[in-house]
Amino acid sequence: MCGIFGIFNARKAAELAVIGLHGNQHRAIDYAGMVSSDGVHMYRESGAGIARQVFTKAMLDRLHGKHALGHLRYPTVNDDPRRDNTQPIVGRYGGNPTAIAHNGNITNLQALRARFPDVALSTSMDTEYILRILELVDTGDIRADLQNVFSELEGSFALGILLPEMLIAVRDKSGNRPLSIGKFEQGFCISSEDCVFPNLGATSVMEVKPGTMVLIDIGGIEVVRFAEAEEKKCRFEGIYYSHPSSIVFGEDVTQFRLAVGRKLEELFPVPNADLVTAVPDSSTLIALGYGESGRSGKYHPVIFRNHYVGRTFIAATEAKRDIAVSQKYTFSATGIAEKIVVIVDDSIVRGPTSSKIVRKFRELGAREIHLRIGSPPNKHPCRYGINTPTSEELLASYMTEDEMCVWIGADSLEFLPLEVLKGLSSSPENFCFACMDGKYW
Ligand code: AMP
Repeated sequence: MCGIFGIFNARKAAELAVIGLHGNQHRAIDYAGMVSSDGVHMYRESGAGIARQVFTKAMLDRLHGKHALGHLRYPTVNDDPRRDNTQPIVGRYGGNPTAIAHNGNITNLQALRARFPDVALSTSMDTEYILRILELVDTGDIRADLQNVFSELEGSFALGILLPEMLIAVRDKSGNRPLSIGKFEQGFCISSEDCVFPNLGATSVMEVKPGTMVLIDIGGIEVVRFAEAEEKKCRFEGIYYSHPSSIVFGEDVTQFRLAVGRKLEELFPVPNADLVTAVPDSSTLIALGYGESGRSGKYHPVIFRNHYVGRTFIAATEAKRDIAVSQKYTFSATGIAEKIVVIVDDSIVRGPTSSKIVRKFRELGAREIHLRIGSPPNKHPCRYGINTPTSEELLASYMTEDEMCVWIGADSLEFLPLEVLKGLSSSPENFCFACMDGKYW
């Protein structure tokens, strides 16, 4: 789970790139890195934490030049703590420094290791293979060389690549992860999500099409197709991951979540409910959609999220995750006592969020607790860039829905059925539902 932001031809490019990363911060909060270019040299800074805190004034002063590429990263289980696993990674191409930032996950690493046995990685990130293969195939024709590299890769990759005087945005043929191009007065920017463009006075030009690269230089932009599209866009981006103010895969995330909520209520109403509440923030719009008709109670927030707690999800041990979940939410006791409540969440993964919240509602005297989930049971780990636990840890992989309801302690539990979710997606065959149906590609 990562975010990318790049900017080409801007005064104070590094400072603007921090704003761009900040607007993508919901995608990852653990590490931030940036490489800038003054047309000849590249400069790199990175650290642990969120972009606004990582990039100090001293760092920004060292990030010279009019072009910059930044990256936000969520660590993965394979991380070797002794290595620098921040991005962008810098190498050399065509005799010049070159940087690369990646969102996604390469799935044929074993084959790459066998095919390129001499490639030695200095990080534990699959991204480094992309850069090292580019270095190997280096003919100086960047379009042909990238095409060559991409033909070796399987899995998902949305990339930002910075050459001294060029910024390149790439989406693999599946288009599994989002990437957009924006334009401001004198230059262009690339961003995992377009929600940030207005913060920079930029307007959205387009989403990078699956199987294409967009090359940005002083002459403007050029779109080069390197593979026929075989779309497998991540369905979970719209459900949980993307920002509600983004257009992702041509879909307005806010409208999609409202539609999910409306459908959930239509299928699984709670006619005598007093209120509908969300597990904030990701499910707020789903809950609003659920409560819109008023048939199953109106939306009324009684769970509040502490915004200074990071993600509870990645904490290494169950005990740490439990503590983190306990500290993340506070509750409006008077809004819950004696009430019949519908709690809406976007997903259940390992289960502690739902079970702890339901337990809290019982303590606070809720009369009935009905849980509604805006996605089908999450039974299979993601192989394409979202950090999910192994299948053994996914609650839905070892419990039926009825068993989950009992384990969580709710009075009822309903998930959005897969076929209904497909019906809410334009061209469902172009989406990846692997975390729900196990159909990996
Ligand atoms: P869990 O407590 O393990 O069941 O996780 C479910 C909660 O985590 C839900 O409230 C989701 O909004 C959130 N969530 C779902 N998928 C992810 C993910 N990949 N990373 C972080 N949080 C997630």
